[in-house]
Amino acid sequence: MSVTTPAVPREPLTAEEQRLRIEDLLKNIGMNVTDIEEDFANYLYNMLGRSLTSEPYYHYKALSYAVRDRLMKLWKQTWASYNKSDKKKAYYLSMEFLIGRSLTNNLLNLGIEHKAEAAMYQLGLALENIEEAEIDAGLGNGGLGRLAACFMDSCATLKLPVMGYGLRYEYGMFKQLIQNGHQIEAPDHWLGYDSYPWEFQRREYTRVVRFGGVSRPYRDHQTGHLSVHWENTEEVLAVPYDVPIPGYQNGIVNTLRLWSAQATEVFNFSEFNKGSYFEAVSSKAEAENITMVLYPNDASENGKELRLRQQYFLVSASLQDVVAQWLEHHGRDFREFAKHNVFQLNDTHPSLAVAELMRILVDDNGLGWDEAWAITSNCMAYTNHTLLPEALERWSVKLFQKLLPRLLDIIYEINARFLKQVSMKWPGDNNRLRDMSIIDEHQNVRMAYLAIVGSFSVNGVAALHSQLLKDGLFNDFFQLWPWKFNNKTNGVTQRRWIASSNPGLRALLADTIGEGWITQLDQLAGIEKELGNADFRSRWSAVKRQNKQRLAELVARDTGVHFNPDAMFDVQVKRMHEYKRQLLNLLHVIHLYSRIKRGDTANWTNRCVLIGGKAAPGYVTAKNIIKLINNVADIINNDPEVGDKLKLAFIPNYRVSVMEVIAPGTDLSEQISTAGKEASGTGNMKFMMNGAVTIGTLDGANVEILEAVGEDNFFLFGLKTPEVADLRRSYRPQDYIDRDHNLQCVMGLLESGHFNRFEPGLFDDLIAGIKSSTDPWMTLADFTSFVDAQQRAADAYRDHDRWTTMSIINSARSGMFSTDRTISQYNDEIWKLKPVGE
Ligand SMILES: *Cc1c(COP(=O)(O)O)cnc(C)c1O
Repeated sequence: MSVTTPAVPREPLTAEEQRLRIEDLLKNIGMNVTDIEEDFANYLYNMLGRSLTSEPYYHYKALSYAVRDRLMKLWKQTWASYNKSDKKKAYYLSMEFLIGRSLTNNLLNLGIEHKAEAAMYQLGLALENIEEAEIDAGLGNGGLGRLAACFMDSCATLKLPVMGYGLRYEYGMFKQLIQNGHQIEAPDHWLGYDSYPWEFQRREYTRVVRFGGVSRPYRDHQTGHLSVHWENTEEVLAVPYDVPIPGYQNGIVNTLRLWSAQATEVFNFSEFNKGSYFEAVSSKAEAENITMVLYPNDASENGKELRLRQQYFLVSASLQDVVAQWLEHHGRDFREFAKHNVFQLNDTHPSLAVAELMRILVDDNGLGWDEAWAITSNCMAYTNHTLLPEALERWSVKLFQKLLPRLLDIIYEINARFLKQVSMKWPGDNNRLRDMSIIDEHQNVRMAYLAIVGSFSVNGVAALHSQLLKDGLFNDFFQLWPWKFNNKTNGVTQRRWIASSNPGLRALLADTIGEGWITQLDQLAGIEKELGNADFRSRWSAVKRQNKQRLAELVARDTGVHFNPDAMFDVQVKRMHEYKRQLLNLLHVIHLYSRIKRGDTANWTNRCVLIGGKAAPGYVTAKNIIKLINNVADIINNDPEVGDKLKLAFIPNYRVSVMEVIAPGTDLSEQISTAGKEASGTGNMKFMMNGAVTIGTLDGANVEILEAVGEDNFFLFGLKTPEVADLRRSYRPQDYIDRDHNLQCVMGLLESGHFNRFEPGLFDDLIAGIKSSTDPWMTLADFTSFVDAQQRAADAYRDHDRWTTMSIINSARSGMFSTDRTISQYNDEIWKLKPVGE
């Protein structure tokens, strides 16, 4: 074919001609095995400059680019359909998105996993090895961040117009190394050696975020209006990086937009002009520090200036982004804004959104206060994630004055008007005014109160937690605005937590009830009919056995401890925190060890205990607990008298991709927090779906898990929430020791230094903590009851048939713990969005 270049350039194409031409040029992106193979080869050789003998990391990148190409058209279509329709949209504002790996999930949701596997097979590569080369995107601490990631998957699958907004931290959650039993933190450079294939920089949507300066009122000479100038600010650019979020085989690709901080040109330029080269470069670095690193504290406050900067940066960039789109379509007419936009605040971290939207409407767009407030308070919705007082964010007025003076003005005004409302409801009640004020008596801004006052919806994340919010922490606000309060029990996405991570179970389910459960998890109930089917039961056990084998290999690789898959796998993985009571778990392990040493091993159940989780770097007690676990493991695993009866391992660097192996291979799921402390838990749900049985307290979503499976299929123990509260006044741990011989043996071993012979005194503080009458977690109060429940679990496990039944029932009844159910409720009761195409 010969092509002649015409002498005269042709007329520019019309927009429609351009669209058709591009569509025509790209029509050949095929979904067949050879298409994928060709594109993979092209990326590997031509773009990455590598070959088939290179590290699997490059194979992962090449395959990811090939998969990404196959998302683009749907992504553009989804984006266009949101933009052209006047449909209401929701925005999920979160400081954390704990995504983990994306390749496997995107293959599943595109419906091309088998083709990709075949394509790699043609080239002599194993898809599984390629998938494992992907580094987790660890942009979150734990449950709260993982919830945001599961939500994104469910929103896309339910075809809801929801966009996620977060921060693109250069360094995500630190990497945990274990050296001599101690946690060591190493930086997590998740972006890889070169670039992250699942993001697209979109410079054209860059926003400018301002900090510092002064807020100055002035009167407009023409209109006579009083308004405010926020002047002499430093400016930082927020550059968006978009990550595609495909729905499950439904043609939808939603967007997660992550902001990255960059210094402005002007900002540098002025410094350079002053002749201060060094200052210019370092102030550039300071600006870019904002998104440098994720704060690694889970469920506790980070009272640092940089953290407040991060929060405002997220909120301001995201709101400006949404308002810019509004202005494009509606001009400055904001009357319908709240009808078309809703912001879900993932905890108080983005609660500055309330004040920032007021600023944008009043200062930038000239709306009056009342009109702006009506809009703001009708489009914000707040999710509370914890009752722990140490996690309730407060920022000092002084810091606000320095960093965000204009926002402080606005918060004062919101508070003044709010307190007027309070004094109208409760005339003369000064205690209420003090207790409910957004500014507390120590001149701190209570972020949760700002969120409640500025939102039309306030929700907790499990039935018990939402009730405790109404009865306790937010009771005053509940009395004022009962209609704002609601519950949305958390969930997890079964696409990642069963379909991708448990292929054995997926295959068994496909043969038994089909694959409808992938989008309708309730359909899992269908396997309960197979309880009497011997073939199904034996396949069920075989799947679990294989998953235990896979987990045992991981544990051996990462810890050197050998787990025998015939033993019961007893697992507790989650952030290390006193309220989660890893120590209680450990006391039970020491109790089993003590029994073995005493020869008390009649009717023994062999057990492999796995514990994992990161401690915040500054959380000394949590780090000591890790060290104690490792010391106890060392003694137990090296004692020939113990042998296969008991093993203990601490798995380092617990993260999403590790949980994908752990949950399918677990028999017993430990959910043993002090009652009233765990808001929901989501790890509990991942385990349940994969056929683990829970040993747990009546806390968080455990309550609902127990309700679903019944007491016969759950090992319940421990004090209940009101009992914990009652006992607090008269708690005497020594009484529990005196009453329980087993506990005396355990404390005796601990206090004798049996586990720290060469490190005297190392665990004195931990021991003193659980023996203290002010121990908030009441570990010893639950010991006897816990040991009893563990014994029931051990007895049940020895009865193989009984255990299999419990395992099947747990999975069969996990339907309500899908984030598809959670998100449907957010949508029906809070967001009220119409799915695409309806
Ligand atoms: C699910 C999950 C969590 C939350 O676990 P909880 O037991 O609910 O605290 C934390 N981290 C990771 C990596 C998870 O996958």
